[in-house]
Amino acid sequence: MLCVSNLSVDFARYGQALGTPAAIRSLDLTVDAGQILAVVGESGSGKSLLAHAILGLLPSNSRVGGSITFKGQVLDQENVQALRGREIALIPQSVAYLNPLKRVGSQVLRAATLSGLEPTQAAKVRDTAFERYGLGFETQRLYPHQISGGMSRRVLTATATTGNASLVVADEPTTGLDQKTALESLRHLRELANNGAAVLLITHDIEACLDVADRVAVFLGGMVVEIAKAADFSDTSSLRHPYTRTLWQALPHNDFMDAPAKSYKATTANQGCVHAGDCPQADALCGETIPAWREMNGGLVRCHHA
Ligand code: SF4
Repeated sequence: MLCVSNLSVDFARYGQALGTPAAIRSLDLTVDAGQILAVVGESGSGKSLLAHAILGLLPSNSRVGGSITFKGQVLDQENVQALRGREIALIPQSVAYLNPLKRVGSQVLRAATLSGLEPTQAAKVRDTAFERYGLGFETQRLYPHQISGGMSRRVLTATATTGNASLVVADEPTTGLDQKTALESLRHLRELANNGAAVLLITHDIEACLDVADRVAVFLGGMVVEIAKAADFSDTSSLRHPYTRTLWQALPHNDFMDAPAKSYKATTANQGCVHAGDCPQADALCGETIPAWREMNGGLVRCHHA
């Protein structure tokens, strides 16, 4: 359904040449119909840029390389605009995406109408979405400031999914939610995948995503360094990349073992392994050459020495 190949994103800065550092580089991933691919990594590592690149929402000073295809068609600025909100839906990171001056019912209705539905059908879809996400009919009349953060998230999910999109990009859909509401939000994504959608779930919460994801892409410094099955995380020795193991072991339920001393900082050079500055196994080759993808134990890894 979605294929991202050798994607790079960098930005022109005032008084500075393009190209250093790249926010995303050599990024590859695929998402299939009926599946959830979780993209995990540290907060602030640029994961949301991937969502914005797919949706064609990057700022005008960005430069994009590589290719993004959807159902075999290369996405460019023109066709992605026609697909957005219909075939491709975004569940944004911030509830600030809701219009504070409009009742939430009318916002979901507008999304259904923009997806191409007739007014009567759009109203039915809105009502069904409110029921499906447990919002209650009376919620439709409320403004965003009158509902809780969890309800706002559900409204955003309803807004994004009224058009029965084939691809749903969920950008940190659990941020700011209590555990129960976060799990509920993730279960809604699982439902969408079970109904045939391809779901790209961008999150910093590895533990929570494992309950619903089929595969996990580990994001580091603008690259995906490993694609593992969700089940691989039940045994650390099944994980292939040194960074994935460190990230997983640093979680509270793993007793913060081997927690990284510092957060990853993007290198200024667009060469070599992104983990070379922190990796205990790094050698000269790691600093010079970006590792190619290798198949390993049913997953994929980019490491010279995995
Ligand atoms: S390529 Fe080298 S630096 Fe990168 S993760 Fe593997 S061993 Fe570490």
